[in-house]
Amino acid sequence: MDETAGMPTARTIEDRDPSTGQLLAEIPCASAEEVAAAVARARAAAPAWADLPVDDRCACLERASERLLAAAPELGRLASQEMGKPLATAVGEVEGYARYLHEELAEVKLAVAPTPFESEAADVVLHREPLGVVAAITPWNFPVAMPLQILVPALATGNAVVLKPSEHVPLTGRMLAEVLQAELPDGVLELVEGDGATGADLVAADIDMVGFVGSRATGEAIMRSAATGLKRLVLELGGKDPMLVFADADLPAAARAAVQHSLRNTGQVCCSVERVLVEDAARETFEQLVLEEARQWTFGDPAAEGTRMGPLVSTAQRERVVAQVEDARVRGARILLGGELPEGDGAYYPATVVADAPEDAAMVREETFGPVVCLETFPTEAEGVRRANDTPYGLGANVWTGDADRARRVARALRAGQVGVNRYLGGAQGTPWVGARQSGFGYLGGIEGHRQFTVPKTIATARPGA
Ligand code: NAD
Repeated sequence: MDETAGMPTARTIEDRDPSTGQLLAEIPCASAEEVAAAVARARAAAPAWADLPVDDRCACLERASERLLAAAPELGRLASQEMGKPLATAVGEVEGYARYLHEELAEVKLAVAPTPFESEAADVVLHREPLGVVAAITPWNFPVAMPLQILVPALATGNAVVLKPSEHVPLTGRMLAEVLQAELPDGVLELVEGDGATGADLVAADIDMVGFVGSRATGEAIMRSAATGLKRLVLELGGKDPMLVFADADLPAAARAAVQHSLRNTGQVCCSVERVLVEDAARETFEQLVLEEARQWTFGDPAAEGTRMGPLVSTAQRERVVAQVEDARVRGARILLGGELPEGDGAYYPATVVADAPEDAAMVREETFGPVVCLETFPTEAEGVRRANDTPYGLGANVWTGDADRARRVARALRAGQVGVNRYLGGAQGTPWVGARQSGFGYLGGIEGHRQFTVPKTIATARPGA
């Protein structure tokens, strides 16, 4: 008999405060057997949860949203400490989602409402059934909102869920699970703690679907593994969002947006502005405007009041940013601001503005995920659109111009799931959160997004005498 079966693995997560490097906790990674046991508990709980009317399931989650609001100060504190975002922003993330949950649940009810169809021979009704057990595997950059955007629709549509939070925010993930579990029947939401290998064990376990938010590389690995057993997938992946600025745009407004959406969350947002492409004629004016804005983005202790930008999530993430800035510098780019490692502890990196990175620079081709404004130029509309589209990604994009015809033309030509015109992205309630090309597979949000956690089932009942 294998005496190690069911024991935790020797692997642990080292949970560190990125503002100091201090160890906050060391958490054992669940073994494959523990992952399988969590999935088995979820599978046992799933049928009774699925049998509840959707209104009852949503009522549990409404109550959970009250608990989330009450827990927001502590959840936000943990999130800020574990991944470095300013405390007020971290608390706001929890409160914002808790308040929004009511609208999302109303949308889920519409998504799963049975739909009758006309037929002379039968009464036909289309139902949306839950899939069974959903694995939710999530990143650290929005440590509460990212898990919730899978957990809420997956649970409300009648699935049991096994959550594997990011190894960078394990304490936040654990507390979030406990807050929700307090309002859910046993087993309906299980938690497994661990690293990427734990996530891989979960994908390989007896689950029906993976709801994943994270990097493109991990998304590909999950898709390969999920082929065994044809598990359903929703993958929300990375981006390299371009912003196109024409000389006739409101340049100060465009510069403010470029800087804010390059540096927000220390640049660690899937739909950050990762490249700013400026029409040649506006280059010098725009550079100056960007510099004025970016100088206001100083970094500091995330727990201190008024801090706009905390550290990166880890020194490893900072090394990736440093490598991209150095690669751009070697290839002839101009570093207009920042670009130097600060002294002292923590994974801090200054707001950095890079101009003229060539098309083959890593910063132009690969996700940066750091506090960098990357400025490029283009000579014509056609060339601007070509360059903007010249990455494998397609999450968001935005175009800034005073010419309404051009705005429409360019918005349609940009290959992205979400496009902002003279503004950043963002749809209305009910529109999906969606990445085109290699930024996503399936999508979340809106009625169609919620339905991805279900399978359609048609029941046709013969009409007497028909
Ligand atoms: P990541 O892919 O490294 O990790 C995400 C999660 O996957 C973690 O929980 C990790 O432990 C797990 N994981 C790692 N390898 C795995 C494997 N082989 N099998 C199963 N699970 C595995 O990503 P990250 O660094 O945590 O997050 C940053 C990335 O997430 C960026 O690329 C960002 O753009 C993306 N992101 C996308 C969206 C979106 O909506 N499209 C939102 C937020 C973040």
